[in-house]
Amino acid sequence: MVRAFAGVALALAVGCSSGEPAGGTGGAAGSGGLSGTGGAAGAAGSAVGGFAGLGFECGTGEPVADDRPLPKDVTAAAPNLELAATSRRIEVWAPVDSPLLDSEVTDFGKGSCQALLFDLDVHQVPEADLSTRVRIVVVDGPTFDLATGAPGAYGVAFSATKSTTDAVILPADGLENLVELDDTLAHELTHVISGRAAPYDAWLPWWLIEGIAVLSGSQLGKKLHDQPTSFVMDWLDIADGSDAELTFQRYGLEDQTQNLGEVGHDQAMSGFFIEFLRVKIGIADVQKRLLGVMRKVSDGDGFDATFAADLGVPLAQAKADYAKFLDDTAGDLGKRYAGTVFE
Ligand SMILES: [Zn+2]
Repeated sequence: MVRAFAGVALALAVGCSSGEPAGGTGGAAGSGGLSGTGGAAGAAGSAVGGFAGLGFECGTGEPVADDRPLPKDVTAAAPNLELAATSRRIEVWAPVDSPLLDSEVTDFGKGSCQALLFDLDVHQVPEADLSTRVRIVVVDGPTFDLATGAPGAYGVAFSATKSTTDAVILPADGLENLVELDDTLAHELTHVISGRAAPYDAWLPWWLIEGIAVLSGSQLGKKLHDQPTSFVMDWLDIADGSDAELTFQRYGLEDQTQNLGEVGHDQAMSGFFIEFLRVKIGIADVQKRLLGVMRKVSDGDGFDATFAADLGVPLAQAKADYAKFLDDTAGDLGKRYAGTVFE
């Protein structure tokens, strides 16, 4: 079965105390948020056969062609999309009348590439496993809302179907805030990586699918801007063991969250659970192992048994240890965050 990965994670900053709504301003032309010098448009060396437009460097291996169209929800909302810039690993798509400057498009492509290569590294996925280019679509806010049904979100990842590719879609005004943008890209591109590794995800819990995405977003945010995902700590600061138990129940095989606040809570608890496994339990390569679990479960193995075998701890024990850790550190946030990306 197919799941559209609602990347509402980052929308949730909106629902939490610290966030500003993302939407509203419309056209991102002239945004000052992008770094880089621009003017790289001519350096189209790695561009792809036949495409004479903008190119940027991304990765080393040769790409594999994919003739499938973009997701139907995306093309229905934005029927006038064109390939705006390309590289070995990433394609950037935008409407033909997009106000984005060439330099903004190529800088965005480079930033997307940086996030993708980061995600591949932390999950220990060879670049060759993503030889079919990842498509990232940038549209104006109203079109984004129409395509995703997730107004206010910073980004959404669509999984592939038999007849359409996977894709990440972002609202153009999201390009103005580079800190949120890098986090969003790492988050959504983690969904693409896990979606390709584990396309049959009906038996994978939401706390895992979103947890690894929240964590890689936080890791890249920490690395580039010294800022992990902001809404996570808003929730984590006030959490105890009951919050973990609620998340494991509500954000399991079915997403039973009812509103953005609940999604934010559950994504925060999920992301920190993965970090707990990595730092507090000491499974240094937990992201690689969890991706392996996802791959095996997608191929038909049972989740609990695969988790126990590949992580070296029974799932029920890991959940109970996490809840106990949150209870034990409820009055000592320094201890709670020590050694984590949220420290
Ligand atoms: Zn997500």
